[in-house]
Amino acid sequence: MNTRQLFQQYLAQTSPAPIGLEIISASGNYLTAADGRQYLDLIGGISVCNTGHCHPSVVAAIKKQAETYLHVMVYGELVQSPQVAYAQLLASYLPAHLDCVYFTNSGAEATEGAIKLARRLTGRTEIIACNNSYHGATLGALSVMGDEYWRNAFRPLLPGVWHYDYNSSELIDAINQNTACVIIETVQAEAGVIEPQQQWLQQLRNRCTETGTLLIFDEIQCGFGRTGKLWGFEHYNITPDVLMLGKALGGGMPLGAFIASHSQMQSFTANPVLGHITTFGGHPVSCAAGMASMQVLLEEHMVEAVQAKERLFRELLVHPSIKAVRSKGLLIAVKLESPDEVLHTLTHCLEKGLFSDWFLFAANCIRIAPPLTITEAEIKTACDIILSSL
Ligand code: PLP
Repeated sequence: MNTRQLFQQYLAQTSPAPIGLEIISASGNYLTAADGRQYLDLIGGISVCNTGHCHPSVVAAIKKQAETYLHVMVYGELVQSPQVAYAQLLASYLPAHLDCVYFTNSGAEATEGAIKLARRLTGRTEIIACNNSYHGATLGALSVMGDEYWRNAFRPLLPGVWHYDYNSSELIDAINQNTACVIIETVQAEAGVIEPQQQWLQQLRNRCTETGTLLIFDEIQCGFGRTGKLWGFEHYNITPDVLMLGKALGGGMPLGAFIASHSQMQSFTANPVLGHITTFGGHPVSCAAGMASMQVLLEEHMVEAVQAKERLFRELLVHPSIKAVRSKGLLIAVKLESPDEVLHTLTHCLEKGLFSDWFLFAANCIRIAPPLTITEAEIKTACDIILSSL
């Protein structure tokens, strides 16, 4: 059996027809396959590789930490300097009240932790989330995810979760003294890139404050410069009570986080003690990698260049088959006539050396979420390939 057949045989599969391209290396904005072909990567591991694949500073930080210590103890017992340094760096770039970080292994675990924190702090159990939102695949995260097709086979899920349309007044009206938290993506990603309306977000903030409801922003996909600002919420001048991060947070290593105020996070220390625990969350190698990646993002001014790159994509992506382009920075959805047309176009793109994907709740859209390091010349190449594949 070749490696592809072994992959089908021994690894749990999540789709009947995986892309199944064998990758032997990845560097910068390119993936290299087993047959030696290079692919320009338009999705960066689904919004993970914001500073490109294997940035030398990230690799150096991983090597250094791997030679120093790996796992030593469950989260929160021993002082591990990579965790401390990264938490401090994150806090220094966040509003003053978001000063305490709980590191997890993944985005879904950040969602689980944030939900527990909201329940613990408010003593309430009801949660409001949005249709077409994605917050992870574990049972709690699945309960707040906003699409019945993906939820249904796994019911019963968490009780007391209500879904409303993003940007809808019904969502605001539904928040009351029983609502523990409202959890939204600051910019909806898997819905095919949907932005919040400024006024709606302000009303949401106000209503949560009035009712003592925690406002949770999921920036797992739209954080770390993807939208053209370091944090998506900076576009709207609205701050959450709890911020969830993941994906690019680890610089290519597994890492998630939920961030709140120091006093709020204290609630995990008593009644019960060890209110939230994890063996590997905040692994020192992941924290070292993530911190190196964030430093590169800041030092190389990658975020500042995002909006010009977004504009170039939008200028070039004009074609009768393109029905709409929705974007916030380098999170771009290119809407075609149908999901079939998207699959057909993606197949042609792959044949021509361009790797892309679709969106979970917008299968009629091509996903463009490349490393933020993508160059002008690469954007032109990518758009040429997309247009010629339509
Ligand atoms: N939240 C958002 C907005 C996401 O896009 C994702 C993953 O795609 C998650 C949460 C879940 O993250 P993970 O896959 O690391 O569990």
